[in-house]
Amino acid sequence: MQQSPSGQPPYRGRFAPSPTGELHLGSLAAALASYLQTRRHQGVWSIRIDDIDTARVKPGSADNILSSLSELGLEPDEPVRYQSQRLARYAEAVAQLLASGAAFPCGCSRADLAADGSYPGTCRDGLPAGRQPRSVRVRAPRHAISFTDRVAGSQSQNIRRQGGDFIIRRADGIFAYQLCAAVDDAWPDVTEVVRGADLLPSTGRQRYLQHLLGLSSPDYAHVPVLLGKDGNKLSKRRGDDPLHRQRPALAMRSVLTHLAHPPPAAIDSVTGLLEWAVRHWDIHRLRHGSALPAG
Ligand code: GLU
Repeated sequence: MQQSPSGQPPYRGRFAPSPTGELHLGSLAAALASYLQTRRHQGVWSIRIDDIDTARVKPGSADNILSSLSELGLEPDEPVRYQSQRLARYAEAVAQLLASGAAFPCGCSRADLAADGSYPGTCRDGLPAGRQPRSVRVRAPRHAISFTDRVAGSQSQNIRRQGGDFIIRRADGIFAYQLCAAVDDAWPDVTEVVRGADLLPSTGRQRYLQHLLGLSSPDYAHVPVLLGKDGNKLSKRRGDDPLHRQRPALAMRSVLTHLAHPPPAAIDSVTGLLEWAVRHWDIHRLRHGSALPAG
């Protein structure tokens, strides 16, 4: 890996959409924030398509998302990566975690979980008689996972209280998002993850997995999510606000405003807005908890 004069690897940022529908304003906010933060650091911006959960993938939506990004000038600096092409790497990570005893085969189904959805530890010390292995879980650590998020500040996440031992390979054989993201986001392949604040609670699990796998964690910055008019997070699955192709400049302006960078009114082209944002981007303007309705 190429080193900068400071001995640090160059900044590498990424945007990791799930191809479950069209790009909407909420995911554009994550894409734009990671793109701008990468440009600010003269780094390498990459796109990873999180297409691991095949049941949720909508055919054509990965290409659709990529072309929407491209129309907005958000071009990756290297070939797009697909999680569906990394199955061997995820299998290797699961095998490593099983071999070290950090993970265990679990025979439970959803019906065996506690009323609050947390895992009661049934198969932690071995499968009870008559149970067949279904999924693979990682033992939740006793200690909290602490880290400093560039936007959200100091964090301490207790995985035991967040549902306990968590799944890394599901009963249907699909590798869990937490595992795939942890493996693919390991430093120095990614030096900083900039994404929506809805994923802040996942970060402790991902950092813990990186630690168990002997990988280093990147830095994290969780930006405020855009909310729909009903106050819920915008989501592709709900079919919210697909990016209006005819009005990309308006979409760009409203997302930049949401990200605390309202552009001057005189700039009305997508290219002009992006150039302005690259010049003015300062992630410190963002404040945690400042989720705003999409305007
Ligand atoms: N693929 C995830 C999503 O679209 C985001 C993953 C990430 O940024 O870590 O919600």
